[in-house]
Amino acid sequence: MRGGVIAIDGPSASGKSSTARAVAESLGFAHLDSGSLYRGVTLVALREAARQGQTTGNPLAAVDPETILRAAEDRGLMLQPDGAGFTAYLEGEPVGSAIRGAEVTANVSAVSAVPVVREWINSRLRALVRAGRDVVVDGRDIGTVVFPDADLKIFLTATPEARAGRRISQRGKRVDPERLEAETAALAARDHADSTRPVAPLRRPEDAIALDTTSMGFSEQVRFIIELARPIFGNA
Ligand code: C5P
Repeated sequence: MRGGVIAIDGPSASGKSSTARAVAESLGFAHLDSGSLYRGVTLVALREAARQGQTTGNPLAAVDPETILRAAEDRGLMLQPDGAGFTAYLEGEPVGSAIRGAEVTANVSAVSAVPVVREWINSRLRALVRAGRDVVVDGRDIGTVVFPDADLKIFLTATPEARAGRRISQRGKRVDPERLEAETAALAARDHADSTRPVAPLRRPEDAIALDTTSMGFSEQVRFIIELARPIFGNA
């Protein structure tokens, strides 16, 4: 029997991962960050492109998706269980901050628009759930495509400015108007790319509960989801 699934989708920097991790911890579920695999594949793609002599720009201009996925397998890109969920590993090491850099972030939407990349990642996410783990999974298409029969679906949003402000603070920087404008534009570009791609675009699943966190505290939004989950999962 498959494990329980809570799907948390939403645009970039809406707090999905940190919320999903806290909800998972509180319910004794495992956190699955699907974005970390998309970022991991993008990191592999950039390294393969660099081997071909292309050191900037869209790696798909230099390497085809099959080569990228073969390299991802050869280099052991995978999700490994950690205490609270799963962490992306590459070449036997946790990928850590390598997948959060500007180069990966700038190219991840292009790589994740490729259908075979999505199939490769989806089959890995589904295998973990088929193995019986109870999970909180966050991403863009979790409730629509990956787990359309999820037990609970949440769509997290916040205004672009609120999301940009949080992202800047996470980096330990001061939220000044110049940074806010640049980050808001970068997030808007990624949201646009993720929402308009033909395969599995970001959209709110019809049966999801929408949660606008613009003026909510972190613990409040976590509590809100846990309260929704309790009646569904009984003693969770
Ligand atoms: O969540 P995060 O910002 O780390 O995701 C990085 C990128 O991975 C997104 O901008 C999107 O292009 C892609 N992604 C996706 N589908 C998911 C999760 C992430 O297309 N389920």
